[in-house]
Amino acid sequence: MTQTSTNAPFTFEVTANPNPVSDADREAILANPAFGKFMTDHMVTATWTRGEGWHSGELTAYGNISISPAAAVLHYAQEIFEGLKAYRHPDGSIWTFRPEANAERLNNSAVRMALPELPVETFVESIRALVTADQGWVPGTDAGEKSLYLRPFMYASDAFLGLRPSSEVKYSVIASPAAPIFTGGLKPVTLWLCENFARAGSGGTGAAKCGGNYASALAGQIEGAEHGCDQAVFLDSSTHTYIDELGGMNVFFVTKDGRLVTPELTGTILPGITRMSILELAKEFDLQPEERRVAVQEWKDGVASGDILEVFACGTAAIITPIGELRWEGGSAPSTAGEGGGEVTRGLRQRLLDVQHGRAEDTHGWMTRLV
Ligand SMILES: *Cc1c(COP(=O)(O)O)cnc(C)c1O
Repeated sequence: MTQTSTNAPFTFEVTANPNPVSDADREAILANPAFGKFMTDHMVTATWTRGEGWHSGELTAYGNISISPAAAVLHYAQEIFEGLKAYRHPDGSIWTFRPEANAERLNNSAVRMALPELPVETFVESIRALVTADQGWVPGTDAGEKSLYLRPFMYASDAFLGLRPSSEVKYSVIASPAAPIFTGGLKPVTLWLCENFARAGSGGTGAAKCGGNYASALAGQIEGAEHGCDQAVFLDSSTHTYIDELGGMNVFFVTKDGRLVTPELTGTILPGITRMSILELAKEFDLQPEERRVAVQEWKDGVASGDILEVFACGTAAIITPIGELRWEGGSAPSTAGEGGGEVTRGLRQRLLDVQHGRAEDTHGWMTRLV
């Protein structure tokens, strides 16, 4: 798609929220933000129309949006999103982690879902505009692991019931202060091995961050919850034998012989930026990174034989979370995670957090300053 490549970089016209949340209420929220529950005072919006490209970039008060009941997104799920975070560093400055990678992934998702690409600079500028306006919502450095979660998204707003690529598309960014998604610190999560539902299929949309993927993963999540599990892990849809990923997180295995193994990107797995970063960190932990297919039998056997020392999940929202027990219909594999996750899980997690929060040197050039 070339329709956006001629767009000059544009700025977002600011109209400040006349009724922002009071300082006292905001501080109370930041003290206990949970995840995804409270939104900041502002949001970014922009419109794309066929012929005109991207225009009408605005930063306005956070509030409800109005769309036609015939809008394509409501019928055909033409929607994609991203997730990244803003972190306050000890000197008060505010940074984000690898935003160009999110911008590129948004564009890959856009191509798959017949939505227009957004120039990388415009994506980063939209993040910067929102975080600048809502900088008071980025938790302070005394907050440990807290951050401001940023949710860019794009959807087809064309009021037309015929099935065709939308001729009008909206882009928006909202923000929500966040504590790590799983509360209770580093408590290992129990996983349900979902054998009845697949998250993604060959040639499908598994590698795109599109809304429908998450709706379809909920059935597995519910099944897991009925078996006392926190999350579900999905298998490849062709053979039902290889591990793909969780509903919203990638999976890693640490082996006894020093390998850091994650399922290879076959087109059904979402290419996580945390996943990519962990692969790049492996060497610093004297681990050999390995992307390959991992059979669920290898997981079961590896836990039993001691060849697999640790299993963990990763993603922007949860950072790195130890995986404990694996359950399936009629059986289970015990946890190797101990009380708070294995040594590698905790080490990688701390390293990522320290770079993101400005407590360790950013030797990979991952951080971008926003404010
Ligand atoms: C977003 C997401 C991830 C994690 O990606 P990050 O870039 O690390 O946040 C993993 N799996 C799925 C299905 C996702 O939607």
